[in-house]
Amino acid sequence: MENETAILIIESACYQHKQTKEAFSIAISALSKQIPKEIIINSDGYYPQCPSCLKDIGKYNNVKHCPNCSKALLWVHTNEQ
Ligand SMILES: [Zn+2]
Repeated sequence: MENETAILIIESACYQHKQTKEAFSIAISALSKQIPKEIIINSDGYYPQCPSCLKDIGKYNNVKHCPNCSKALLWVHTNEQ
């Protein structure tokens, strides 16, 4: 099962207890961070940012996960020639 599908199923589940809802929220957040998302490149083409926490990740070029929030990253812009 893909993470996106798991998130949809969890989100649509009936929340009967506050703690269950909180636990699901934590699980959804953890799953979401494993789904790679394109890094943010600002207009000058430098200083890539994490799409989740918006921290500057330029000094960690091509890391697979944000060193700050552990969001999975896609570096789609950096190797274009
Ligand atoms: Zn981050």
